[in-house]
Amino acid sequence: MISKERRKENNHKYIKDHPEKIRELKKNWRKNNPDKVREQAKRYRKRHLSEIKARAKKYYDTHLNVEREKAVLQFRNLFNEVLEHYGNKCFVCGSYERPHIDHIGGFDGNGEYRTGKILWAWLRRNNYPPGFRILCQKCNTVDGFLRNHPALNVNGIDGLIQLKKEAGQCHFGQE
Ligand SMILES: [Zn+2]
Repeated sequence: MISKERRKENNHKYIKDHPEKIRELKKNWRKNNPDKVREQAKRYRKRHLSEIKARAKKYYDTHLNVEREKAVLQFRNLFNEVLEHYGNKCFVCGSYERPHIDHIGGFDGNGEYRTGKILWAWLRRNNYPPGFRILCQKCNTVDGFLRNHPALNVNGIDGLIQLKKEAGQCHFGQE
């Protein structure tokens, strides 16, 4: 019968002498106990929160420009991809300047109204659904009623100007 201390010693020796084996065992345990792993991670995070935050802050302080560039590049890629799928130019006047994504019916698929980067990412994630088009800044800022008027779809910008003239709010072609 070996003593408790001796057994402990033997265990430590075994662990030290078989790093591969131990790594394998730990890996299997993690694979078989995902809930426990999650719990452990949570507890670890709680215990070391200030360290983790400090580490993250240090990372962002030293990598700020890199992260920023990465984000800009990612957004540019998204931007270009989405524009390409919806034809690149303004649906109404054909301009390539300052393109916006326009919800044709006012809402997207689920009756939600997403805007900006969230909308662009959503479009890509959903494989570019119909119901959207590109409008340039100028055409996008005319009021929603006129923009969604059927005459606009037929007559393009001329139809829009006509409608705005009739409504007494046309400023196009006057300056
Ligand atoms: Zn336009």
